[in-house]
Amino acid sequence: MKKEKKGWKELPIGLVLEAGSSREFETGDWRSEKPIWDEKKCTHCLICWIYCPDSAIMVKDGKVKGIDYRYCKGCGICAEECPPKVKAIQMTREEK
Ligand code: SF4
Ligand code: SF4
Repeated sequence: MKKEKKGWKELPIGLVLEAGSSREFETGDWRSEKPIWDEKKCTHCLICWIYCPDSAIMVKDGKVKGIDYRYCKGCGICAEECPPKVKAIQMTREEK
């Protein structure tokens, strides 16, 4: 039987929730848009890696290796910050 979740209006004022971390809660579950990285276009400048708030840009030996979708929440910052002349990351609608 499915357990009913409380809505935010039913929570007590001043409620303190236990802090979580993205190690425990995979922020990729939040995603409605998905960044698609194009390896052929990428110049490995690592700007996306610097700006990604979830450390979801995977880098090895100074080069981008892909995007860790378990933690990528689809904010689009990487696509926005990738240099306009390169545009190696495109956001697309998440398909489940
Ligand atoms: S969409 Fe956001 S969370 Fe995902 S890789 Fe890009 S910057 Fe990181
Ligand atoms: S910002 Fe763009 S070009 Fe630079 S490493 Fe990231 S994907 Fe590659």
